[in-house]
Amino acid sequence: MKTIGLLGGMSWESSSEYYRLINQGINRKLGGHHSAKSIMVSVDFEEVKHYQHHGEWDKATGLMIEGAQQIERGGADFLLICTNTMHKMADDVQKAIDIPLIHIADATAKTIKEAGVTKIGLLGTAFTMEEEFYKGLLSSRHGLEVVVPDQEGRQLVHDIIYRELCLGKIVPASKMVYQQVIEKLIDKGCQGVILGCTEISLLIKQGDVAVPLFDTTVLHAEAAIAYALVDEAKKIG
Ligand code: GLU
Repeated sequence: MKTIGLLGGMSWESSSEYYRLINQGINRKLGGHHSAKSIMVSVDFEEVKHYQHHGEWDKATGLMIEGAQQIERGGADFLLICTNTMHKMADDVQKAIDIPLIHIADATAKTIKEAGVTKIGLLGTAFTMEEEFYKGLLSSRHGLEVVVPDQEGRQLVHDIIYRELCLGKIVPASKMVYQQVIEKLIDKGCQGVILGCTEISLLIKQGDVAVPLFDTTVLHAEAAIAYALVDEAKKIG
């Protein structure tokens, strides 16, 4: 089994989900008392959030590279950055380490394509919904048509992420806001919606909406489980 490297703390609310999903997934595959081999470096999210919201992306990139190198030195075989937003600097992080990085958007797009979905809604932070580093990859590398909420919807989704979800606050009224934003995406023809922020699934569940949801936390964790067990799978196959 390969050792999974997790760059977490963004926020720790979702890192704990990654940890649970990865360990449960490995145990489901291997049984007994098996659990995942992993190394996590967890950053101080206040620092990250400050850099993001002040446009200090060089400093944010430096922090991500430092964490990734720490994880590599610790003996991880590959790396997950446990947030969508901080994939903004995924290429820089990959260049700074010798272990492979499993990109959260690649892991997500694979499942979307397998489901036969071509027009997809995207919810996440303003950075993820508005900049090209994420949407662009989904369309150019994976051929998906990506739709984001209107300006008002994006602001609501963004604010709920930072003011509530990253602090572990689950507010029923915010769930209704997300449901309304998703309704509008469905009206625009979206066949599914990407929960493109690793905390959104703490608020919105599949039963709350009428189209398939693609939860990046779950799909990224599943990609990690499959890669961690790739040698075992070869032996069986
Ligand atoms: N976890 C969130 C994401 O997936 C937001 C936190 C962050 O800014 O990294 O984008």
